[in-house]
Amino acid sequence: MTKTGLAFQQCIMPGCGATYDVGEVRTSCDKCGALLDIAYDWDRLAPPDSLKWFESKWSRRNEPLCRSGVWRFRELLPFAPAEKIVTIGEGQTPLHPSVGVAKYIGLEQDKLFLQYEGMNPSGSFKDNGMTAAFSHAHMIGAKRAACASTGNTSASLALYCCMSKLMQAVIFIGSGKISYGKLSQALDYGALTMQIAGDFDDAMQRVREISQKLGIYLVNSVNPFRLEGQKTIMLRVLESLDWEVPDWIVVPGGNLGNSSSFGKAFSELKELGLIDRVPRLAIINAAGADTLFELHENRGLRWNGGNPDRKIVDSYHAELDAAGQRADTIASAIEINRPVNLDKCLRALEQCHGVVREATDQQILDAKSQVGASGLGCEPASAASVAGAKMLREEGVIEPGERVVCILTGHQLKDPTATVAYHTSDQAEFNRVLGSRGVNTAAYANRAVQVENDLDAIVRAIQLNS
Ligand SMILES: *Cc1c(COP(=O)(O)O)cnc(C)c1O
Ligand SMILES: [Zn+2]
Repeated sequence: MTKTGLAFQQCIMPGCGATYDVGEVRTSCDKCGALLDIAYDWDRLAPPDSLKWFESKWSRRNEPLCRSGVWRFRELLPFAPAEKIVTIGEGQTPLHPSVGVAKYIGLEQDKLFLQYEGMNPSGSFKDNGMTAAFSHAHMIGAKRAACASTGNTSASLALYCCMSKLMQAVIFIGSGKISYGKLSQALDYGALTMQIAGDFDDAMQRVREISQKLGIYLVNSVNPFRLEGQKTIMLRVLESLDWEVPDWIVVPGGNLGNSSSFGKAFSELKELGLIDRVPRLAIINAAGADTLFELHENRGLRWNGGNPDRKIVDSYHAELDAAGQRADTIASAIEINRPVNLDKCLRALEQCHGVVREATDQQILDAKSQVGASGLGCEPASAASVAGAKMLREEGVIEPGERVVCILTGHQLKDPTATVAYHTSDQAEFNRVLGSRGVNTAAYANRAVQVENDLDAIVRAIQLNS
């Protein structure tokens, strides 16, 4: 229970503050049950005194730890010895300005940026965290690693296992809405895939029990090492903006690991004097899985200096149970009603003067079509960030001249079913594939033109439609 070394694990509750060695495997504090942070003795570690210093690594493409968009910042997540780090070239992701999406949101045309995390090796931002958790698993000698997943965490874990040959992947998915894009990755990469009769929240509960019981290393975002890797998404955003802090970071919220890690990144950078202000954070839930929105915006739940009002959370969960309410949204990656990182996320909201909004499936799919129309494309959950930014702009919370970065968390090809159904001309077909969700597909649909197999008919149809 004592802090040893320059990096250690620490209970997030200031009133407890218990510390644990980084060599231990745990996802909560023994003393009080709260989540853990990875903390550092910065005085003795002496990190660089300017973020610009990291640019010197750009050219060293032959060194895997410099090529990785996570580990070239390793002085800011120094918990692993270099020889234990497992990297597959994650985090080489670009920040793209988008005039089209700026217009859709209602921002001045050069103010909107999309951080394209779909460009990661497994196609989602999860690789940023997985390389960190996986390296820790390797440090402590794990032979099997497990996660519950709506699809992307499992794709990422399966890929790290498959490429490194260091561990076996054991993944738990619900029997509901996992997209074929994601499931196909886990199967291809050879993960032991357990499909349980239940949803993500059920799978999450089970994987925690199983990993405890069988001593399997857990890589869900309750794992504090995951979040260390995800901090670097913000470092790359800053880097692309020539180290200028934007006004807003907008991110979808599911299990709330990403938003929590962003808050930690900015508060550490501020504490280290590497930035002079923090951006504001906007976290966007799907309306069908809006626990954070409900608790933060409607019931006044706050971090409150490390004393969040447990009664508010408990009574909300009791209501969900009583009503038998399950998360339900087309944005399957954020279809989560019991976010495991709730407390850390509340802290991030406080540190970054944050707000939470919820977007309907209609808003999400319309926003997604606009991201696609500007060229990058993303999966539905990712577009919640764009839908949320639009909403906040309309409310006047975001000003037209503010610089806004939306995180595109996953690749367009992760969930082609949703995209094709949106663009399809037939509402009945949409309902058949995706269930009736009150989504009006007409908004920005680019329908396939149905035409007979006849030369003249095809010519007429092209002339008619172009
Ligand atoms: C995991 C995931 C999210 C949710 O991130 P959290 O850290 O769980 O809040 C959002 N979008 C995509 C594509 C994801 O894979
Ligand atoms: Zn504690």
